[in-house]
Amino acid sequence: MMKPRSFDRNLIVIGAGSTGLVAAYIAAAVKAKVTLIEQHRMGGDCLNTGCVPSKALIRTAKLLADMKRAEALGIRRAAFELDFADVMERVQRVIGTVAPHDSVERYTALGVECLIGRARITSPCSVEIAQPGSTSTLTTRAIIIATGARPLVPPIPGIEKAHCVTSDTVWELRTLPRRLLVLGGGPIGCELAQCFARFGSEVTQVEMAPRILLREDPEIVEMVAQQLRTDGVRMLTGHKALRIETDASGTVLVTQSGSVEVRVPFDVLLSAVGRVPNTEGYGLEELGIGLTRQRTIETNAYLQTIHPNIYACGDVAGPYQFTHTGAHQAWYGAVNALFGGVKKFRADYSVIPWCTFTDPELARVGLNESEAREKGIAHEVVRYAIDDLDRAIADEEARGEVKVLTVPGKDRILGATICGSHAGDLIIEFITAMKNGIGLNRILSTIHIYPTLVEANKMAAGVWKRTHAPVGLLRWVERYHAWRRG
Ligand SMILES: Cc1cc2nc3c(=O)[nH]c(=O)nc-3n(C[C@H](O)[C@H](O)[C@H](O)COP(=O)(O)OP(=O)(O)OC[C@H]3O[C@@H](n4cnc5c(N)ncnc54)[C@H](O)[C@@H]3O)c2cc1C
Repeated sequence: MMKPRSFDRNLIVIGAGSTGLVAAYIAAAVKAKVTLIEQHRMGGDCLNTGCVPSKALIRTAKLLADMKRAEALGIRRAAFELDFADVMERVQRVIGTVAPHDSVERYTALGVECLIGRARITSPCSVEIAQPGSTSTLTTRAIIIATGARPLVPPIPGIEKAHCVTSDTVWELRTLPRRLLVLGGGPIGCELAQCFARFGSEVTQVEMAPRILLREDPEIVEMVAQQLRTDGVRMLTGHKALRIETDASGTVLVTQSGSVEVRVPFDVLLSAVGRVPNTEGYGLEELGIGLTRQRTIETNAYLQTIHPNIYACGDVAGPYQFTHTGAHQAWYGAVNALFGGVKKFRADYSVIPWCTFTDPELARVGLNESEAREKGIAHEVVRYAIDDLDRAIADEEARGEVKVLTVPGKDRILGATICGSHAGDLIIEFITAMKNGIGLNRILSTIHIYPTLVEANKMAAGVWKRTHAPVGLLRWVERYHAWRRG
């Protein structure tokens, strides 16, 4: 198609997940004519099959764990029977309550034209929209691809014989699996393994790598792994899935650990081994838009594809697969797409946080110790153990750690990892500090409300201060006090 003389739209956004919604919202807020096209459900993965349902499930599982703990503390005795179908219905109710935030009605009111249909990019300036019974084409100045990702089901021989669910379909279960096999030791696998174990499934988690949550520091991961084991998860790390067979015990996953084969019988298999970007069947191949080795869409620092007016953001673009990083990229995508002729902005990945919402939570921003070592970045480590914190003790949540990496001899923060109750909330202070160049001295001099969990951050800053006390000055001050005493 020749470049048209005029365009129907300033921007077309493909995919109404968390990334596409934010991109479209920004465009409408700056008065651009924007169309958002969604083929399935508004809100995408985050609302329907990802963050929202998983966090709802985690809340219920935590409630159960707390009730059991109350029994152990001798403050609750009544027996409790779990109705798993009710648990899953609650998840759907939560989705239903959040859904209006991402709805066609809301976005239309914000000035976004929302179309339910499948989009296909037919040229750098045109998008075809297939809706039931009709197909139309819109011309546009710019396009943002925000088509997300889908769960990967590994090609393990025999997997077709198994009752296999993924993060897309696990929400349809209404009967609690007696024996659940969770394949994958990443955040999604860990969060769901813990939930199902707490509901009463016999959960086995199989991970090929030597440990779960491989990106995080080993001793921090061990705190999470310990709790998962306490909750009843049988953790088989260093186990490679070979094949699925059936025998007298039912369906069995055969794994390899070293030179030994280990058989894991199960009723339901939850595949949580990664997510594949959605890049097929909507025009990328025809337009020559390339993919990276991770199968994400290849973009430059401005999130442009090889066609400078076509951008990609969110899970389909990587390198991160989080709702908040998708939303972060959406700002760059939308602003560059609409105003790039005047000024373009490079996507800033300098301060990227995330959290695995296991119990305890494991949150991180910036570098951790393993990465600093790998990259040869000079650093100091300061630790504060949360079992010492008054509020954590009062809450029966006295476990975990705040671990901060700083520039040697300076209070500048290179990264922070927090493992503990509400770590995903606590880490905000370090995110803000890193983003705004605030060091540990200023965190220490900031009043934190007593007694709160977030005081753990100030305590960590206090540990840093003590290890960097001005020894020479203190010796002098000691002499001064001695002189004053006479
Ligand atoms: C179980 C689970 C838990 C998670 N928990 C968290 C968490 O706690 N915190 C966090 O930050 N992240 C979490 N994530 C990740 C998060 O859900 C994703 O990073 C986020 O949803 C990505 O948003 P997106 O808009 O890029 O893609 P998606 O949400 O996948 O949206 C893409 C949309 O594009 C549509 N689409 C695709 N192709 C077309 C086409 N040709 N035409 C029209 N529409 C199309 C799809 O239907 C889809 O709705 C979790 C994910 C899972 C699976």
